[in-house]
Amino acid sequence: MNPTEILKKFFNYESFRGEQENIINTLVYKKNHCLVLMPTGGGKSLCYQVPALMFEGGTIVISPLIALMQDQVDALKKKNIPAEFINSSVPPDKRKQRLQKFVEGKTKLLYVTPERFRKEEFIDEIKKVKIDLLAVDEAHCISEWGHDFRPDYSRIAEFRNLIGNPLTIALTATATIEVQKDIISKLGLKESGIQIFHQGIQRPNLKLEAIEVYDEKDTLKNILDVIKNYNGSGIIYFSLIKTLENFSQLLQDKKINHKIYHGKLDSTLRKKTQREFLDNKEKLILATNAFGMGIDKPDIRFVIHAEVPSSIESYYQEIGRAGRDNKPSLCLLIYNQQDLYTQMEFIKWANPDANFYSRLYDLIKSKNHEINNFGIEYLREELSWKNKNDFRLETALAMFDRYGITEGDIETKDLTIVNELPFELSNEKYLNEKLKRDNLKLLSMVQYFRTEKCRRKFISEYFGFFDENDCGNCDICNQIIKQDE
Ligand SMILES: [Zn+2]
Repeated sequence: MNPTEILKKFFNYESFRGEQENIINTLVYKKNHCLVLMPTGGGKSLCYQVPALMFEGGTIVISPLIALMQDQVDALKKKNIPAEFINSSVPPDKRKQRLQKFVEGKTKLLYVTPERFRKEEFIDEIKKVKIDLLAVDEAHCISEWGHDFRPDYSRIAEFRNLIGNPLTIALTATATIEVQKDIISKLGLKESGIQIFHQGIQRPNLKLEAIEVYDEKDTLKNILDVIKNYNGSGIIYFSLIKTLENFSQLLQDKKINHKIYHGKLDSTLRKKTQREFLDNKEKLILATNAFGMGIDKPDIRFVIHAEVPSSIESYYQEIGRAGRDNKPSLCLLIYNQQDLYTQMEFIKWANPDANFYSRLYDLIKSKNHEINNFGIEYLREELSWKNKNDFRLETALAMFDRYGITEGDIETKDLTIVNELPFELSNEKYLNEKLKRDNLKLLSMVQYFRTEKCRRKFISEYFGFFDENDCGNCDICNQIIKQDE
């Protein structure tokens, strides 16, 4: 079967979209490595799923998103595509079973987290399989310049080597030129050895707008205007739970139905809210950036940012959830200069310095028993810091886990140090660089707000695509058209 026949048979589509067919042909017929930059909702996964069904050997898909794997694999199984996933949420006996099926060639696509490659039993088995394609999803996580760096991802060239350097496709929605270069080198490839495909921001139905406000009343007025003018589902993003709750109250006072979603809510309630939103039982969600992963709802009519987000990367990812049905949708950034201070605080807490890391490291080592018995509050007190909004401790613990310095968890009372502090968490200069880069990312949001050129063009150029035309649909483009009249 050729790619189009596979598309019809398994996916029930008549034809490919955008660059999909080009990418698939490059993999299947030219056997050329590919780096694909495609907005969320652009149909990235088909680019490796179709080839996987054409190749004789197996396809490994590496993804950091444990929460999405189940859904992805379920969706494939419904289409009669033999796929499985292995990650830490799968019990050991099942892991073994699934791996065995892949070794026997009964499973065509195996989804795994990068952490799997730490496990010898996994590597020993996987080496027995003929791998025809390696797909690296969310490839920006490979790059330490990316906004969601995963240390395990940075060893990807090593993994490739272990499985015989197969044909590789890396995919991401957001990567600046710097990040693209880093991805290629971390894959162990040369720029001349990989073909880059980018689809730009071909979402002409998204109307990008930004407006400056000076106080809460202003923000509320703008939110109400959108709710009044746009029928249908919408998401309003906030940076702070406190602000979110405040606006929830304000909307309630106006008798506007909505639900709230943030990381501090119970996970059952969060799942329920998400379900209700997907099923159209709930139309309006006030959320922090915790909301969105796996939100593939076609008819979201507006995404409002009631507070300035931390980077163009996250902004672009969040607005990408609007208008996937290609119908007109609004992406409104409500800009209050005050929000920048909030974000700068966030950035500070998300970047503990070398001294903080080493103090925490020593504490976990020397007072392990007490910490596991008395919990995180004990640790907080030992570090003697008072600001309850300061989440450096949470950041640092998450980094320890990511870098494989600790194993276990305070919650389960089995947190232990298993490795030395790496360079990345102990070198002051390196940590400073990262802090500086995060601040520059925030600055790019300010520039986005202040830009005098087409907003879509601004975002495209931020990601290194310089061939985009004026969109004719953002507030800047419309302003110019008005002036011309
Ligand atoms: Zn424009």
